[in-house]
Amino acid sequence: MLDDHTAAHPSVAPATLAVTAGRPPRTPGAPLNPPVVLTSTFVSAGVPGPGDPLYGRIDTEAWHPFEETLGRLEGSTHPALVFASGMAAIAAALSLVPPGGRLVMPRHAYQVSLGYARDLAERSGVEVQLVDIDRTEEVLAAVRGDAGGRAADLLWVESPTNPMLEVADLPALVAGAHDAGALVAVDNTFATPLVQRPFEHGADVVVHSVTKYLAGHSDVVLGAALADDDDLHARLHAYRTMHGGIAGPFEVWLALRGVRTLALRVERAQANAAELARRLADHPGVALVRHPSLPDDPGHARATAQMNGYGAILGVVPRGGVAAADAVVDAVRLWVPATSLGGVDSMLERRRRFATESPTVPEDLLRLSVGIEDVEDLWADLDQALTAAQRAEG
Ligand SMILES: *Cc1c(COP(=O)(O)O)cnc(C)c1O
Repeated sequence: MLDDHTAAHPSVAPATLAVTAGRPPRTPGAPLNPPVVLTSTFVSAGVPGPGDPLYGRIDTEAWHPFEETLGRLEGSTHPALVFASGMAAIAAALSLVPPGGRLVMPRHAYQVSLGYARDLAERSGVEVQLVDIDRTEEVLAAVRGDAGGRAADLLWVESPTNPMLEVADLPALVAGAHDAGALVAVDNTFATPLVQRPFEHGADVVVHSVTKYLAGHSDVVLGAALADDDDLHARLHAYRTMHGGIAGPFEVWLALRGVRTLALRVERAQANAAELARRLADHPGVALVRHPSLPDDPGHARATAQMNGYGAILGVVPRGGVAAADAVVDAVRLWVPATSLGGVDSMLERRRRFATESPTVPEDLLRLSVGIEDVEDLWADLDQALTAAQRAEG
């Protein structure tokens, strides 16, 4: 269970929790911030009790302030479990599918998560069915096994999806999956717990690439998995202990430092993204913009109902095909061409430059991760790059 250092203020807002959770006890002379704890080993004799500090792969206080903070932000009864990377946390969550079991997953999930699912299919006989996660009835038919199979063991959800920005109907999917006896895991990396809290919709497991918004400064690779249920939490913890994909103390310390400014960063990045989406929709060099903030975006109504904002990732298709999209990436000066997202720095890339990206993602789609720079500077750079790409084409 969580140590409740903010028990005196049980109902504070998430933006406050992001700043205050996980602090050391308030005693005169004590440091305000948790220290970096460097030890593999804790002094211990005799038969250890549950939770007694023993050994750094099993558990270490180096992780606790971050784990407590993320647990509280997601509204979980348990602290988060920090992992060496988002993929290590995702591997732990996918271990909840038994060998020979069934897994339903978004066609446009994070491509390495899809690769891991293919690996499970080959090595463990897991049957993987890919779906369009925004088509609720089709997803639930797949979960129930209406086409003749058995019900799924796990429904994997990303919302909004990477990089297509489809929005899943979280309450309907969770309710339908639970009726069919399936667990629901949500990759909440794109939204962050300030924008979307899957446990409030009944999800069983939440995972994060902490690398992205939570750490937020493009300087840490880290992951986390959370479960509200005691048994699921224990299974994820046991997986981490046995597979050993644990996080280093410095990375976790940096991630907590990042979380302290999460609310400000997300607020600014979302505002920038919505403004850029609005302007891009009217740009002569742009064929398509996907962002749930746009009133005519297919995900707008759902996002408005279940999210606290619309996130800061855009999908943009320039006019002129792949050559124009590549020309935009070449022409930007302030935006960084790079494959990550969720940092303070604005980044973009053409996703299909990777042979492993889903073939249903348009070849000419650019994914933009909008950062916290001045929006006029971001716009001026995009505008000149789009215009230059059109001139090159024309
Ligand atoms: C980056 C990312 C991951 C993988 O996380 P790593 O920290 O790179 O291992 C998983 N899901 C989503 C949505 C991501 O963006």
